[in-house]
Amino acid sequence: MRTAICSVAVVMLLLAAEAGLETRLYGAETRLYAQTLTAPAANPLAADVDRLSAEINPQVVAWRRDFHKNPELGNREVRTSKIIADELRKLGYEVTTGVARTGVVGVLRGGRPGPVVALRSDMDALPVAEQGDLPFKSTAKAEWNGQQVGVMHACGHDNHMAILLGTATVLAKMRDRLPGTVKLIFQPAEEGPPPGETGGAEQMVKENVLDNPKVDAVFGLHVFPFPAGSIVYRPGPLMASADFFTIRIKGRQTHGAVPWGGVDPIVVGSQIVTALQTIISRTVNITEAPAVVSVGRFAGGNRSNIIPEEVEMEGTVRAFDEAVRKNIHDRIRSIATHYAEAAGATATVEFGLGYPVTRNDPALTERMVPTLRRVAGADNVRVGPLTGTAEDFSFFQQKVPGMFMFLGVTPRDQDYTKVAQNHSPLFFADESALPVGVRVMSNLAIDYLMGK
Ligand SMILES: [Zn+2]
Ligand SMILES: [Zn+2]
Repeated sequence: MRTAICSVAVVMLLLAAEAGLETRLYGAETRLYAQTLTAPAANPLAADVDRLSAEINPQVVAWRRDFHKNPELGNREVRTSKIIADELRKLGYEVTTGVARTGVVGVLRGGRPGPVVALRSDMDALPVAEQGDLPFKSTAKAEWNGQQVGVMHACGHDNHMAILLGTATVLAKMRDRLPGTVKLIFQPAEEGPPPGETGGAEQMVKENVLDNPKVDAVFGLHVFPFPAGSIVYRPGPLMASADFFTIRIKGRQTHGAVPWGGVDPIVVGSQIVTALQTIISRTVNITEAPAVVSVGRFAGGNRSNIIPEEVEMEGTVRAFDEAVRKNIHDRIRSIATHYAEAAGATATVEFGLGYPVTRNDPALTERMVPTLRRVAGADNVRVGPLTGTAEDFSFFQQKVPGMFMFLGVTPRDQDYTKVAQNHSPLFFADESALPVGVRVMSNLAIDYLMGK
């Protein structure tokens, strides 16, 4: 999960602007509600999944701890991807490496014909120095933005990889009975590639990861501060889009005592900041989907009596609907350029690398929820609120129906609303969630292939 969270609540939408999953902010509705429908009958392989996932669990834990102790930043997951590729080859997968630099794709063709289901895990860690005292604590260091930094799986992607390798093992052992193909996508740089590089899900899609064989549906999960082993999902939008913009306003420099001798970009910029507030308040239907526009940086000038030549501002946009997202972008461009023009200045607007809305295909979600309830237990499966975090899993969902969910990793004796969040140097994942993750991913794949 990348990029800030800026809220999601209709009302309190203003938060941090820089990258990184900062805080979790739910909307006005913070309570989750349990689903109480009766669990359906299991697929014929479910008992084998339970047995195999229990058998493989010590290895899943070992993988997780090894990845945790040896984290690597985005686009630098060299050791990590080698371990994954080696394991997949041992299990009989057709393995492709070097996808979007360090990505690994494994294909398992079942014994019977059928659809193609993809399961995705991200692989990258963050420039965060771990502060916990786990025996497998990371002491890794790497260069980030020209500085030596501590590296930690502070977003929990170590768990995702271990779960997907466990799932790979389970599915490989029932290969002959699988009606279709499983494609495992181990993705680099979910948190965003280093400056100046491309990467992540967007790059994997560009390199046709969803083709040959063509993927029919994709599933992914993310560990999150919810009760360990619980699953939180949501049909339709789950996580916000995240975009970053830069507006540069060029006026004409003059003496502060003689403003009529130039064009003041600070006044123009101020008018633009104020006008940007009207995008959400006057043009977005917030009863359908909330959104945020925030300016987090405004820079110009260097002393009190000089009206500067230029002003630069940066901001972020969050939305839960792609049409709303596009409209906001268009409005930002229009407001900036026209306000500047009206004052005799000029403005340019640039949007940086953005993530689309993480939107779960409603039909696919409805179809798979019975699997979640059966596997995790109906009381452990809940619909969650919109969250302001962003995920580049959304790039896969733009191409094929996809479903993304949260796997709780907060120890059951702790208050999940008060523990350290993802991206914190104290983020902690309870390993009791790992076998749940393996069983969920395995059963989602099997049920999907079997047309359940
Ligand atoms: Zn993250
Ligand atoms: Zn993440």
